[in-house]
Amino acid sequence: MKIIDLLKNEKLSMSFEVFPPKTESGFESVKSATEEIAKLNPAFMSVTYGAGGGTSKYTLDIAKNIKELYGVPTLAHLTCVSSTKQTVKDKIEQIKAAGITNIMALRGDIPKGMENADRSEWDYKYAVELVRELKAYNPDFCIGGACYPEIHPESINQRDDILHLKEKVDAGCDFLTTQMFFDNNLLYNFLYKIREQGITVPIIPGIMPITNANQVERAVKLSGSFMPQRFKSLVDKFGSDPAAMKQAGIAYATDQIIDLYANGITNVHVYSMNKPDVAEKILSNLSDILGK
Ligand code: FAD
Repeated sequence: MKIIDLLKNEKLSMSFEVFPPKTESGFESVKSATEEIAKLNPAFMSVTYGAGGGTSKYTLDIAKNIKELYGVPTLAHLTCVSSTKQTVKDKIEQIKAAGITNIMALRGDIPKGMENADRSEWDYKYAVELVRELKAYNPDFCIGGACYPEIHPESINQRDDILHLKEKVDAGCDFLTTQMFFDNNLLYNFLYKIREQGITVPIIPGIMPITNANQVERAVKLSGSFMPQRFKSLVDKFGSDPAAMKQAGIAYATDQIIDLYANGITNVHVYSMNKPDVAEKILSNLSDILGK
């Protein structure tokens, strides 16, 4: 099932993200967390690839399990910046052989220490090159791309970032998923600007439930996202009480999702971070809205 065909709903629909284990010993626990999330019957599940210092080795295994064992459509992430053309070609062939048709085409972060390196010799500099390659390899692939309501940290200004985004979409992205954000107005503003530039593909907002205080620093560092005062107050008040912080973080994410839906957005992706209890709680908070 292509993700693009799942995005035509009029009612709210939820999807979740998981990340693969770093080592083989972690495989079973990720598999079981994935199974718990799959049982919640999300619209689809995405599996990251080497994100945040993680591994890329098990992305396909986890993605294949989700699809074959639990019948949930999967979106396998793939990055290119630290890879050669040959490695990427091999990966694409493996993806095809695994029967996966939905691919999130990403550049990936520039490896540490390489930020100022001469990039002219690199096989890949931007995600747009991977998008082109995937579409050329199989026009039937359904391709997702990343977008940044608060601009990508390397971009000098939003205008340039959106022009590059347009180029990526024109190269073959069928939909875009956003970086996490904690103030919905930033997303609404971004949507207005990209639509104005002729980007018409579906945009799936990505929501990160912050369930412990340590996660805040990591999330901000990774994404550069703005933390509204309302969110900071919540962390100040509950940060030292893990159970209360988790409840408050889930409530905040739920509130963001309700506001998105109230403003016409019908597909939301949750960065559920291999936490079935968090995914389950968000769905139960939304049960009447989802009609479940
Ligand atoms: P690009 O689209 O290439 O953009 C990167 C920067 O280059 C931007 O500033 C853009 O404006 C600029 N740019 C693009 N094209 C050009 C051009 N032609 N000329 C000049 N500048 C240009 N990382 C992982 O490692 N694994 C994952 O699984 C993963 N999943 C993610 C999922 C989502 C939804 C998001 C939002 C991010 C994810 N990331 C992941 C992080 C992502 O890899 C990084 O944010 C990375 O720095 C940029 O990737 P990109 O695909 O957005 O790059």
